[in-house]
Amino acid sequence: MAQFAVIGLGSFGATVATELMGLKHDVIGIDSNKKFVENISDQLTHAVIADATDEHVLQELNIQNCEAVVVAIGEDIEASILCVLHLKNMGINKIWAKAKSKAHHMILTHLGVDKIIHPEEDMGVRVAQSLSYPMVSRYMVLEDDHYLVKVEIKESQQGTRLNQMMDHVPEVKTILHKRGTDIQYSLDPNLILQTGDILVIEGLIEPLRRLAKYFKVSN
Ligand code: ATP
Repeated sequence: MAQFAVIGLGSFGATVATELMGLKHDVIGIDSNKKFVENISDQLTHAVIADATDEHVLQELNIQNCEAVVVAIGEDIEASILCVLHLKNMGINKIWAKAKSKAHHMILTHLGVDKIIHPEEDMGVRVAQSLSYPMVSRYMVLEDDHYLVKVEIKESQQGTRLNQMMDHVPEVKTILHKRGTDIQYSLDPNLILQTGDILVIEGLIEPLRRLAKYFKVSN
């Protein structure tokens, strides 16, 4: 169990904070708006009304020992930058921050923020991806063109043999197969797929697109 701080409890910050709590971490949530703090206070380890642009306030909150601090202030760029500057001065280990614009992103990069998040854009990309590849229920970018995708077998693929499907894309690797609660890592190529089965597949975007076409053809 680690300790995290989330500064700014709008919809993005509140989601990050409650997800971290769900993962059994300690989370201190900070927002200058009383209403946002009250809304979430019973779901976090601590929720504090404070102005994160005030370095003394941040020091008093004792967040120096946090594993990471997430700055989820987007609209008020000045507040976001000041807050990051103070966190840097305080020697915080890892800072992740939300950016609203290219300029905001550039400044955060120069300040040495470890990860910059663009929630709206990231969500837009994810929505577009799921519209293009509806069989992909989740995916993760490993590096530029390299993905890990979770595919759900639809009724139209029911009864297909695993190797019959994967022979279309020999370059990709099936990492695991899940049926109900049963997870298999060493896969029988003759496995007959059933509706609702989950496959986790790893590969480059181009062969994964070919696999997606196969799904569309057989739909
Ligand atoms: P979201 O999209 O996550 O709802 P938003 O873009 O609508 O956020 P933002 O302006 O990014 O809103 O602010 C997120 C939160 O940060 C708000 O709840 C706001 O009260 C809080 N916040 C803004 N400035 C400060 C500050 N100086 N100190 C602490 N919290 C702040």
